[in-house]
Amino acid sequence: MPDKMRNVIIIGSGCSGLTAAIYAARANLSPLVIDGHEPGGQLAITTLVENFPGFPDGVQGPELIENMRKQALRFGAEFLAGHVVTVDLSQKRPDGSKKPIEIKLGRETLLARTLIIASGASARWLGLANEQALIGHGVSSCATCDGFFFSGKEIAVIGGGDSAMEEALFLSRFATKVTIIHRRGAFRASKIMLERARQHQQIKFLTDTVVDDVFDVSKKEVTGLRLRNLKTGEQWDLPVSAMFLGIGHTPNAQFVGEQLARDGDGYLIPDGYVGSRAPGVFISGDVADRHYRQAVTAAGTGCMAALEAEKYLEEIGK
Ligand code: NAP
Repeated sequence: MPDKMRNVIIIGSGCSGLTAAIYAARANLSPLVIDGHEPGGQLAITTLVENFPGFPDGVQGPELIENMRKQALRFGAEFLAGHVVTVDLSQKRPDGSKKPIEIKLGRETLLARTLIIASGASARWLGLANEQALIGHGVSSCATCDGFFFSGKEIAVIGGGDSAMEEALFLSRFATKVTIIHRRGAFRASKIMLERARQHQQIKFLTDTVVDDVFDVSKKEVTGLRLRNLKTGEQWDLPVSAMFLGIGHTPNAQFVGEQLARDGDGYLIPDGYVGSRAPGVFISGDVADRHYRQAVTAAGTGCMAALEAEKYLEEIGK
């Protein structure tokens, strides 16, 4: 276990954290990347990625992320499996003297001059028995990533917020029919998005309805959903080729507490592009992005965070 003070510690080994690691390692800063509870981030659990530039035939998400990891390792980045419990970004002791940034993983405390928080956001799932086994085989939380694979098919979108409406509208370009399934009769979605979805011919709504199960693990593809009307208790099966979750994301920033600016849903709010109010602390990727959430945008801000960390270290003479 490395115990020395680090120039750069990166929390998160998804697309953003690994891009930051590649840049920081190539700048001879020997970054340490903490894997967190979802090593590789969301790319590690997707299948074909067709919109990452440079891959005309697409690339498997796990392969893309593994290549980024190898690239970071090649330039000297180190990796540590662990779960960050808290961080202390104050950098000041009670007597006013300067101290490093502290990153606490259980009983261990790591010290750093700069910290890049690239801990991502986790899609919320329904928690169905067969759901996780079908991720990448018809169960998805990213319409932009996976919608194209369901051209000419009937699909379901779960949720009643703007994400669900946006996903349904996007998916209606490919699918012959999109059914929005929402557990209530009232919607959180903004009026304009809801109306747009309502007026779309291919989009249908099922309200007061929940998903009890998704089939068919034995075929390694989604063939349908078991639904239940919450008012009548009636259960029935809806044949679909995909289930897209639009029930929100949870940013993985709990360990920051109130030390950095966060919005009402817990997303970090960067100062400028990737800065923060704590000196030497930079923010990148989906932990601060509720809007774009793309691999390429996460990589972009990871690069920016590493360049800012490098600049900061130069400024403090390290
Ligand atoms: P959201 O507004 O929190 O909506 C989540 C939806 O999922 C709600 O309808 C909720 O149902 C449902 N849901 C949550 N957990 C569920 C569960 N376990 N089972 C079934 N349904 C469940 O999240 P969001 O749609 O991701 O939006 C988050 C924020 O981003 C919002 O401020 C939104 O306006 C913004 N956003 C904006 C755009 C845009 O403007 N283009 C696009 C996407 C997101 P209940 O209503 O019953 O709680």
